[in-house]
Amino acid sequence: LVSRKRRPLDTVVRIGDEEIGGNNDPIVIAGPCSVESEEQVRKVAQVLKQQGLIFLRGGAYKPRTSPYDFQGLGEQGLEILRKVADEFHLKVVSEIVNPANLNSSVEYVDVIQIGARNMQNFELLKAAGSVQIPVLLKRGLSATIEEFLFAAEYIVSRGNNQVILCERGIRTYEKWTRNTLDISAVPILKKESHLPVIVDISHSTGRRDILDAIAKAALAAGADGLMVETHPDPAVALSDANQQINLTTFRELMKEIDRYNRLN
Ligand code: PEP
Ligand code: MN
Repeated sequence: LVSRKRRPLDTVVRIGDEEIGGNNDPIVIAGPCSVESEEQVRKVAQVLKQQGLIFLRGGAYKPRTSPYDFQGLGEQGLEILRKVADEFHLKVVSEIVNPANLNSSVEYVDVIQIGARNMQNFELLKAAGSVQIPVLLKRGLSATIEEFLFAAEYIVSRGNNQVILCERGIRTYEKWTRNTLDISAVPILKKESHLPVIVDISHSTGRRDILDAIAKAALAAGADGLMVETHPDPAVALSDANQQINLTTFRELMKEIDRYNRLN
C-alpha cells in the first residue's frame, strides 16, 4: 500500500489546514528534545510563531538509553505541549511509546511520532494504524529502507494512510556524527513510496556545527520537511544537550533555509 507502484500520486498528509508532501513547500518541525516545563516550551513556541512555523515538537515519553536518565514528563508533558500550542495556534508532534496511550494521546497531539527505537514495535504500529491522526514514523537505528517501508505498511494496512517517513540517521562505524545520515534514503524513499519524507537533522548528526549544510542537503535530496531540536538553553537541557541549538542559532538556521529555498 505504501508503494508508488500501487499509488503513483504523492500522498499529502493533512494536519488541519497544513499539508505535508506533494507540491507543498517543505515544512519544519522544531522544538526541544524533551518537554521540561511550560516556560521552556513557551519560549520555543514564541520563536516558532515569529518564524511563521506551525509544527512544535517535544518529547513527553522519552525512550532513553539509560534507565537513570530523564524519562520525560509523561502525560503532563503532553498537557504542556497542548496548552502552549493552542496559545500560539501551533500543531503538536510528540512521541508515543506505549500502544495503550495512543487513543488518549489524540487529545493532546496532532501528529503521533513513532521513534527510531520503536520502528519495529509491531503492536504500536498496528495501534497507530487504527487511529485517525497522522503518524510520523522514524527509521530504526539499524533498519534497512525495506524494513522501514514495511513498518509504514503496518500502519497504512490498518487503515491510517496519513504517514510521514522520517530519515534520522543509521548506525555505522563512524563516530564523528551521532548517526550516519543516509541521504540517499530520501530520493529512494520518494521513488519507492508515495509518502512524504522528512529528515531529522539533529538526531542524524548529533552536532550543531553542520546543521546548515545538512538541512540544505536534505532539501536538495527532495525532503518534504526537516525536524530540528531547539532549546532555550541547551547547556541545561535534560536530554540531548549536545545537539540542541539555542533559539538565536535556530533563527539563523531558518534564515539560511529560507535563503536556500528562495534560490532553488
Ligand atoms: C526524538 O525525535 O525525540 C527521538 C527520540 O528521536 P529518535 O527516535 O530518532 O532517536
Ligand atoms: Mn532528542
